[in-house]
Amino acid sequence: MSDILLIEPNYKSTYPPIGLMKIAYFHRYMQGDYVRFAKGKLPDALSKKKWDRVYVTTLFTFEWDITKEALEYALRVVKEGGQVYTGGILATLMPELIRDNFPEIINNTGLLNHKGTLGLPHDECIDTLPLDYGILEDVKDVCTYPAHDAYFTYMTRGCGMNCTFCAVKTLEPSYQPYVSITDDIHRIDREFGPKKDLLLMDNNVLRSPKFDQIIDEIIALGYGKGASFKNPKTGKTVQRYVDFNQGLDAFLMTPEKAKRLGELAIKPARIAFDHIEDKEAYARAITLCAENGVDYMSNYLLYNGEDFTGKGHTYHADTPEDLYERMKITMELSENLTARLGRKISIFSFPMRYIPLSNLSRGFIGKHWNAKYLRALQCMLIPTQGKGVSGRSFFEADFGKDEKEFVETLAMPERLISKRGFFVKRKGESEKEEKARYDIWNENQHLINTWRKLYRKIDATKFLEYIGCNRFDEVLINKISNENMKKLYFLYFTEAGMIRVLENADENTKKALLIFIKEELPILYSRIITYAATINITAKQLNVLVDVFGVESIKEIIKNRNLFDSKNVQFNNRLQATARSKNIGFNFSLLNYLPLFDSMGVFEPADKNEVINSVCTFDEKKLREKLLGKLDELKDIFIMKAADQPGNEMILREIEESIKGVYEQLSLF
Ligand code: SF4
Repeated sequence: MSDILLIEPNYKSTYPPIGLMKIAYFHRYMQGDYVRFAKGKLPDALSKKKWDRVYVTTLFTFEWDITKEALEYALRVVKEGGQVYTGGILATLMPELIRDNFPEIINNTGLLNHKGTLGLPHDECIDTLPLDYGILEDVKDVCTYPAHDAYFTYMTRGCGMNCTFCAVKTLEPSYQPYVSITDDIHRIDREFGPKKDLLLMDNNVLRSPKFDQIIDEIIALGYGKGASFKNPKTGKTVQRYVDFNQGLDAFLMTPEKAKRLGELAIKPARIAFDHIEDKEAYARAITLCAENGVDYMSNYLLYNGEDFTGKGHTYHADTPEDLYERMKITMELSENLTARLGRKISIFSFPMRYIPLSNLSRGFIGKHWNAKYLRALQCMLIPTQGKGVSGRSFFEADFGKDEKEFVETLAMPERLISKRGFFVKRKGESEKEEKARYDIWNENQHLINTWRKLYRKIDATKFLEYIGCNRFDEVLINKISNENMKKLYFLYFTEAGMIRVLENADENTKKALLIFIKEELPILYSRIITYAATINITAKQLNVLVDVFGVESIKEIIKNRNLFDSKNVQFNNRLQATARSKNIGFNFSLLNYLPLFDSMGVFEPADKNEVINSVCTFDEKKLREKLLGKLDELKDIFIMKAADQPGNEMILREIEESIKGVYEQLSLF
């Protein structure tokens, strides 16, 4: 019996590692080995164990860094004389990368469907084995796959359409039109218990001449329309679904095939809509499905692409405008089909960012895209959790009423993108809370409107040269000669960034920004002040604020703080440093006494107001007088508190000394 370790690198994945689950089945049930599964690496308790064989699966090439970590880990935990194997998508697409970085690792490219893949008897059958669901128990504390209660399998292999951007031609080069799954499903039922859903990872099932046979088999397995499933653990009955999760080819949809799909408990039917040029075929496929009883559909919208060929067509690199159009077509199809067929037809858009097959990170930028647009699109997709939407009002609020508005929003500062949308009342919120939230919402709408107005006044193409990289440079603003562009560019910074911009601004920029912040958009001023008052602002930043906005800004900051908070010492010291360097005639160190006086209860509310006023007007004399006037009272309270304590004579002497010290400090004027 050998010790076998299976590793899935620590990237996010929706589906469990099917290849490893088959290898697990082979080792556990056919070889009688001990098998353990790990996500990234094993828990600490097992860190010293060494393994006879370690298998590392791979997925996308852009997950190379995480994959590399897993391969390095595998080499550390394998026994001397043991073997490390890898395989899967990245390993098949870029075998030279594995070979150059890990010459000692055995790389199994392609499918595990031929002899010699693992160097063990009967290893030619791995690809046809059932999945060992038991391994998922090993990682249940560190990772749960969103889709785990399902049979994961294929009823066809390969595709044959040879789209340039797609890995299938390398991963599964020949088309296999039918693979029966009934025996495997029954075996899984017996050995691991029945699963709710059926996830078919076929690349192009519609191409199969055995399509009818495939549908018949799926129905016979209990996935006909309206199928339900009784959970053996909870006893609850729920709907079960079949999902061809790699998508269906719109060009191959026919009325007959749509009719057969309508006989299944399919949810969703995913129709690929990778290029705007396919819009007619896409709309026709969606319509056929809806007319044949499919109510839930989805798509794949590839974006950020290059010029492609595939399915016998040549496609142009996509643009942001055509992504918008593809989402809009989808929303309108859903709206129109619902109205025409008299039942709800849901079609969700699923934009999918293109990354070339050989890229080892996610940084690729398509011909008509830029880093700013790509990031902005991610922000716009957040409310839909990565999917588009099927309702018009939500669609227009999130993506805009037309493609122009969509592209404009892509250029908007990221922190404003998420602040768009209507004000929505919340259940259980008090009037005061609602008002506070409304005021902030209102402020944000004002900022968004100001941004839009300015944006519409400038040359957007020229401005894109500044923001397209999605990195905002505090010094670059000085080089922008157009005043509106300068102001617009300023809006891309956080409050801390704005202070840095002001620190580095030349005279022209400073002048323009001062008018912008103080007069045209005073919300910015109050946000900068609030920021300065609520975080650990540095003395350097305070100096910048005094230089730009004058000493009044310090008064504004003070108004925004609780002067009686004992955690103010550092802040007070920074104010004092600024007072010294900017010749502000006020000793901010005195503020360090305020928490002491307050905590001893010597201040009435009126006293506190006087203290605040004296600080906010920099009236040091008045502040000292106030504190001196309260000193005897403070002393009495101290003495009273010390009276009952053991060693009180010593404590009283210490109090006398301290109060004397405070008195001397307060009297120095
Ligand atoms: S049709 Fe789909 S699966 Fe087939 S090669 Fe093109 S993108 Fe890949």
